[in-house]
Amino acid sequence: MPSPHLARWFRVYAKILLWIVLASVVPPALLLTLSYYQTLRQAEADLNDAVTQGVRRVDSLLKTADLTLTNLAADIQHLEQLNDEKALRLVQRVAYKEPRFREVGIIDAQGSLVLTSLGIVEPPISFAPETRADLDRKVLQIVGPVSTRVMQERSIVLVLPTEGQGEVNILVDPIILTAYWGQVDQLDLGQDGFLAYVNTRDGQVLAGDGIIPPKVDFQSQHPPPGYLHVQKASYTGDVVVVGQVSKGWALRNWRGSLWIGAPLTGLGSALMMLACLPLIYSSRTLKHEIENALKWGEFQIHYQPILDIQTGYCVGAEALIRWCHPQEGLLLPSTFIGIAEATGLINAMSTWVCQQVMQDQALLEAQYPDVYISINISPVQLNSGDIEEVILTLMTRPQSYPGRIVVEVTEAALVEDTKTNALSAIARLHSLGIAIALDDFGTGYSNLGYLHKFHLDYLKIDRIFVTAIKQSSRISAVVDAVIDLGRNLGVELIAEGVETQEQLQFLKRRGVRYAQGYLLAHPMPIKAFQIFLAQNRQAPFALKT
Ligand code: C2E
Ligand code: CA
Ligand code: CA
Repeated sequence: MPSPHLARWFRVYAKILLWIVLASVVPPALLLTLSYYQTLRQAEADLNDAVTQGVRRVDSLLKTADLTLTNLAADIQHLEQLNDEKALRLVQRVAYKEPRFREVGIIDAQGSLVLTSLGIVEPPISFAPETRADLDRKVLQIVGPVSTRVMQERSIVLVLPTEGQGEVNILVDPIILTAYWGQVDQLDLGQDGFLAYVNTRDGQVLAGDGIIPPKVDFQSQHPPPGYLHVQKASYTGDVVVVGQVSKGWALRNWRGSLWIGAPLTGLGSALMMLACLPLIYSSRTLKHEIENALKWGEFQIHYQPILDIQTGYCVGAEALIRWCHPQEGLLLPSTFIGIAEATGLINAMSTWVCQQVMQDQALLEAQYPDVYISINISPVQLNSGDIEEVILTLMTRPQSYPGRIVVEVTEAALVEDTKTNALSAIARLHSLGIAIALDDFGTGYSNLGYLHKFHLDYLKIDRIFVTAIKQSSRISAVVDAVIDLGRNLGVELIAEGVETQEQLQFLKRRGVRYAQGYLLAHPMPIKAFQIFLAQNRQAPFALKT
């Protein structure tokens, strides 16, 4: 079984470690996931742009060719011959008008090429059937790319079968599809990406960029796994522009950020987390720490003896809380009471103090039935009226005589506007035989007119007055006034923080009955207090006169 401290230490630090690990892993992981999808989306958008530009280029070419060939087909209807100078001039005029056209030609009704814009073909050339368009469909068709005896370079042939007079056609260089505009964004396609213009009639690739496979799949609905795939058809449906790029290639820059960006972001957020930890930890988790400390039994009570300075005997002790913190060591109340008050934990803490005092007092009872213990109750608690649990705890043991328990309240708890709660709480405590001491007397609200209403039993003269004794006669006069005030109220006086013989003698001379301070005894655990009491009964504190 691990010790409770070790288990708690482990729980606290395991949590911090977990937070740092999460802070260094989660933000970069989120960032990378986000940038992963963003990079892919951007690559797909770029591919889509390139394909859209390609389709526009095809549409523009097809529209121009369709119009040109329709007009030419109409013009040649009026010619007597298809292979004379008149026909040549007509064809040349058409060809030179459009820079995208490499050649314009006429094929007669027998399927022989009789004329091109380069001249009259003599003798006419017949084409192989696979390089011919479907003559029954009197619409613009695309053939190719082909190379023939007259067309040494591979060309795309745009063919329009004519009514009765054969065909008219236009030859275009495939390159105009990919480079004509000169402003095509240089799409980085990687090693296995491509942009292809596919002839839907036979699946032949008319033109393209990148490494184009022999057969481009333009019919499948699903892109191949591991690739980004975009395709669009020309307005006639004759050509499909297909763009494809591997995801691996699209993510090449993102991968760079994987190795540099991710560790940097992780380190950055872990450092930020580390920098903020003390802040978060000291405010938010201090509350948890106090809760845990109550749960794990880390609080202790030290008792500071209160002596009758006329006799030197110990008459009581003030219960002062200590936190035995597993990392910080012994913590004084000033480091945690404020947070306990602010977070409402003061109630649970006070209840615990009362329970502990009840237990400790049971140990003293037989031997020292006349020694009282005083407990500090926070003004916050007294004013909020939240003292029920404390009272119930104090009622668990019937008091053997009135005043065995003293409750110390500060002046702050008794100010006019909040005193209703305090008044009723004090009245209830009194009815249970509990005495009331006004703590830190003289430091707070000097309107003392209302003090008699509280039926106080003791006044504790604050340490600042005791420390000031003899430092200057002016301040000593203030101490005198405080003592007189207390006496006039008819209550017993306890001087706090007595550290020197000089202070003790002064107080004694002035008739102060009780004192508490390092000169007499420091706060101590219950066992040490028992030993202190035993010694004090045998040899009361030696009071020099
Ligand atoms: P306090 O009620 O005025 O308690 C007296 C403080 O003065 C104690 O400090 C005590 O250790 C210290 N003291 C005693 N003799 C001398 C001396 O000769 N010289 C000097 N310099 N100091 C001396 P401690 O224990 O740090 O407590 C500080 C305050 O915390 C207490 O002031 C009290 O207001 C509060 N406190 C302590 N225990 C509890 C508790 O259980 N509940 C609540 N609500 N407050 C507590
Ligand atoms: Ca006190
Ligand atoms: Ca005090």
